[in-house]
Amino acid sequence: QRAGQLVCAVLRAVRTTIDRHADELGRIDAVAGDGDHGIGMQRGAGAASLAAEEAGEQGAGVRTVLTRAADAWADRAGGTSGALWGAALRAMAETFNDASAPSGTDVATAVQQAAQAIVRYGKAELGDKTMVDALLPFSTALRHAVDDGLPLGDAWQRATAVAQAAADDTASLLPRKGRARPHAEKSLGTPDAGAVSLALVVAAVHTALV
Ligand code: ADP
Ligand code: MG
Ligand code: MG
Repeated sequence: QRAGQLVCAVLRAVRTTIDRHADELGRIDAVAGDGDHGIGMQRGAGAASLAAEEAGEQGAGVRTVLTRAADAWADRAGGTSGALWGAALRAMAETFNDASAPSGTDVATAVQQAAQAIVRYGKAELGDKTMVDALLPFSTALRHAVDDGLPLGDAWQRATAVAQAAADDTASLLPRKGRARPHAEKSLGTPDAGAVSLALVVAAVHTALV
């Protein structure tokens, strides 16, 4: 199951990037939130990568590997973002099967389902200063790039640039969801922690895809 192995490699890359940026994510979350976003993402990505590896070693396909990763992330990360990442990965997993390797179109659809799951679950709208502000532009850009006929790696790269710009742009927003909301003014000038980590994750995924 080569596709299952690729998901394992992607999650290893995500874990490495998150480990490297955990302190920075904590500092960003501490500006108006409770400062635990780095450690939460580290726990989630670490557990997800380990669970994926175990499933991958048993020859599991994409759907099973991602489902195990989703459950591990939700169980171990804690916090709002942990539950949301778990739901997102589970929604992605459900669009795949174990038998075949996903196409670029399949991946774009999976990302759209992940974005919808996060919106359904967290009820944040664009402009609320959450991870949704990076994820929705990313998802839309990926869909368009794939539909334009770009190979997945190129499409993902283009969408990653969109996510990074969108995450930076959250600095000028006032939080309307989550723990940062009561300290809204303090967060002006600092981007949203969950949007920044989302952009880091998709950039890491790209390094494993190409
Ligand atoms: P907690 O806020 O429980 O400490 P984290 O610090 O891990 O959890 O995650 C905080 C991030 O979660 C925020 O920066 C934001 O991006 C995201 N977030 C918070 N609430 C929501 C929501 N309702 N919908 C989408 N994302 C949210
Ligand atoms: Mg926090
Ligand atoms: Mg917390």
